Amino acid sequence: MAFVITDPCIGTKDSACVDVCPVDCIHPRKDEPEFAQTSMLYIHPDECIDCGACVPACPVAAIYDSPESTPASQKDLIDANSVYRAGDAGAVTQAEAIVAAHVAANAELMGVAPAERAAGHAK
Ligand code: SF4
Ligand code: SF4
Repeated sequence: MAFVITDPCIGTKDSACVDVCPVDCIHPRKDEPEFAQTSMLYIHPDECIDCGACVPACPVAAIYDSPESTPASQKDLIDANSVYRAGDAGAVTQAEAIVAAHVAANAELMGVAPAERAAGHAK
């Protein structure tokens, strides 16, 4: 089990979650070169200790507490969180390709402001 970042992070990406994570499992950090290239941030599923600190820190409710609780419209992004690895260009490309496909397939949801997107996840 691990926490999962979903699409309200796209267009927000403020790193508030990174600042509170006790095990540094959310990437890319602002000081990593990949930060400028990525659409969102990703949680490493094997390193996350399920502490929950990131959830209230996120201003746009982008983080779910498990793959199981991640809404159907966001399940594709579970894999994006899983494949992303800091410092691995291929993995970064793979994660971003999943995100690009998600954005293309969810045009209506992505058309609303990030802060409103989580409300649309259950629909
Ligand atoms: S649940 Fe805790 S360990 Fe996992 S990403 Fe959030 S802050 Fe980090
Ligand atoms: S706090 Fe939320 S919006 Fe900000 S970077 Fe983390 S997941 Fe993305």
